[in-house]
Amino acid sequence: MVAALLLLAACTTSTASVAPSSTLPSSTGVATTGETVPTTAAPTTAAPTIVSTTTVLAPTTLGPTTEVPATATPATVLTPATGGPATLAGRPADFLGEETIGSSFEGRPITAWHRGAAGGKVILVVGVIHGTENDGMKIVDQLSVAALPPGIDLWLLPMMNPDGVAHDVRGNGNGVDLNRNFPHDWTAISHKGNWQWSGPGPASEPETQAYMAFTERIHPALTLWYHQDLFRVSPSKGRDAPLRQAYAKLTGLPYETVDGPTSIYTGVAATWTRTTLPEAMSFIVELGSTLSVAEAAVHASAVLAVAQMA
Ligand SMILES: [Zn+2]
Repeated sequence: MVAALLLLAACTTSTASVAPSSTLPSSTGVATTGETVPTTAAPTTAAPTIVSTTTVLAPTTLGPTTEVPATATPATVLTPATGGPATLAGRPADFLGEETIGSSFEGRPITAWHRGAAGGKVILVVGVIHGTENDGMKIVDQLSVAALPPGIDLWLLPMMNPDGVAHDVRGNGNGVDLNRNFPHDWTAISHKGNWQWSGPGPASEPETQAYMAFTERIHPALTLWYHQDLFRVSPSKGRDAPLRQAYAKLTGLPYETVDGPTSIYTGVAATWTRTTLPEAMSFIVELGSTLSVAEAAVHASAVLAVAQMA
């Protein structure tokens, strides 16, 4: 468990940065700004091992921070800290490595964790692409230590938008909505300052480029993306339909279409992934506005279940 804690350090740190933004409803779980540390064990309600691990996530910031005040500092810590030895020190037995797949607009590393059966079925899970929709990181945390089914070659990308997480904004450090920046169906949307700005051109952003190069190399059979907070999985007519449906069923999410003008769904990462990479399936999971640790564990199990179907 201690090991797991360490492994999660990177992710935890980032979440920490989000904490102080009391603006957020409560999706980060850390509505309170800081001082009061309930009891490190506060939300330690539910599950076993992993839970206590991930539990640290929510009141996190404070927990470890209390002992090492320095760490408490903002997200800036991310830059030098990420990929640090602390993370690797906690690797599970099947940990295959950690790598920086690129840098954000503001120079923060984009880190990927690799574990499971090298050469097996490649599954990729992206915790965060919109910086204000962070609860997917809790699921990534669970997956970083969960027992994996045989034959799964698992890659975890806690966040492909570290700038957004650091600043608690949707876009990257350049103000671009990364999920409108991918080259598939890219359309110019709005301008800098708009929450859905597509960027000046397709794949203009370093995060988008890093993700593309990374996935073109690892060829994931299935990629999962977490967003908030429409609370659903959208149906599909594609090959991934049974997986989507199974995921919805396993997690209790409605299997329902997202309404709204389709025009705003251009340059989407999941769509680029499944239309560009050979044989790739890729879909979005819209979480609710909050995600408890116990719920994150359910989602992690669902990921591993659909991974076996891929
Ligand atoms: Zn989103």
